[in-house]
Amino acid sequence: MTAVGEVERMKKILIVGGGIAGLAAARVLSSKGFSTTVVEKTQEWRPVGGGIYIPGNGVAALDAIGLGEKARLKGSVIDHRHIMSGKGKHLMRLDLEKVWGRPAPCLGILRRDLHEILFDGLESVDVRLGTSITSFSQDEQGVDVTLNSGDVERYDLLIGADGLNSSVRELAMGKTPIRRVGDLCCRFVIERPKNLNEWTLYAGKKSQFLMIPMTSSLAYVYVGGQSKEGDSLTEENFLDPFYDFPDPVSSICKSVDKNDLIWSSLDELAPLDTWGNRRVVLMGDAAHAMPPFMAQGASLALEDALIFGDVLSGQTDWSSAAETFTERRKSRVSWAIERNRRREKLTKIPYWVSSIGLKLVGEKTWIEDYSVLAKPLEMENE
Ligand SMILES: Cc1cc2nc3c(=O)[nH]c(=O)nc-3n(C[C@H](O)[C@H](O)[C@H](O)COP(=O)(O)OP(=O)(O)OC[C@H]3O[C@@H](n4cnc5c(N)ncnc54)[C@H](O)[C@@H]3O)c2cc1C
Repeated sequence: MTAVGEVERMKKILIVGGGIAGLAAARVLSSKGFSTTVVEKTQEWRPVGGGIYIPGNGVAALDAIGLGEKARLKGSVIDHRHIMSGKGKHLMRLDLEKVWGRPAPCLGILRRDLHEILFDGLESVDVRLGTSITSFSQDEQGVDVTLNSGDVERYDLLIGADGLNSSVRELAMGKTPIRRVGDLCCRFVIERPKNLNEWTLYAGKKSQFLMIPMTSSLAYVYVGGQSKEGDSLTEENFLDPFYDFPDPVSSICKSVDKNDLIWSSLDELAPLDTWGNRRVVLMGDAAHAMPPFMAQGASLALEDALIFGDVLSGQTDWSSAAETFTERRKSRVSWAIERNRRREKLTKIPYWVSSIGLKLVGEKTWIEDYSVLAKPLEMENE
């Protein structure tokens, strides 16, 4: 006879989307012994965006998943944020230990390296590239999922980790409004400038140039803003405001190959009451996408995976998994959304106000903005 624990472990979970949220969920759930399948619509892995900054709560989540050391080896530990004006004048330097309550708390890492770390060792997971879902229907006991091949498969649970424009979300709850937050932004990877050891921002009057170390030889650049006249920048004139910035910014902009620039819009998903329904659960950007003012996307996705694993460990009846999961995560994620919106507003205040504000209360407000996220995750069923 099969023991109850084993029957539980034979439950089948389908994860749609092989990004940070999907792979983190696959790791956590497969490590608990659940039969886990990941379907990813792209034909090959193509993590988009160059590099990524992972604040302290994301690094703590990587530690809890068992990947923190690997990530530190592949990436660059970040312990300070340094903000300068567009003329290179010092405005603020924040010791991140004060924010996160422990040394060396944050990380810069190439997206492809993070993806590799999350994917490495997932042998027990059935991963299918070039696969997506076209529809599903759920009943009291499970979910029937139709794949793009036309095959119908039955699962105990369906996870939508398929990003901002999630198909699972749309199939489960219809269209959700997405707010276009700002103009274009652009990202690229550069040779790591000598002496770049911190999260380093040059904040001009209307445009910002952020550099973050990623590996011993590479760094990541995030550029956003408007022209000197306050107009939206286009792909043609995007780097123009930075030619007057001090080096290394100016020379980076003059030498960068325009084909290497990655263009993105900044978007926020309207907050959902419940992340999915019943046996259909949304995670990561599919549930709570927001623009990267607090750089919380990856961290919240990693935390989602951990908490969802905890929810399933403590519950044999999965028929209200989405509701229980939302209840466990809502207040922490809502805090991040609300503080992220405050950060968005700060990008719109006049430059002279923000530069004085940074000097006077910059440290205090950063510490406050991350204060809830600096608290450890509460696990109930370890
Ligand atoms: C400009 C910019 C800068 C950012 N910087 C940071 C940062 O520094 N730090 C940070 O933490 N976050 C940052 N973010 C946010 C971060 O990138 C996201 O929050 C994170 O990638 C979300 O991961 P995810 O797995 O939920 O979604 P995604 O990364 O979107 O992954 C979804 C996956 O699902 C797949 N998929 C989609 N639809 C289907 C389907 N129908 N079937 C199968 N597969 C499907 C996709 O191909 C993809 O692989 C930034 C975002 C932007 C736009």
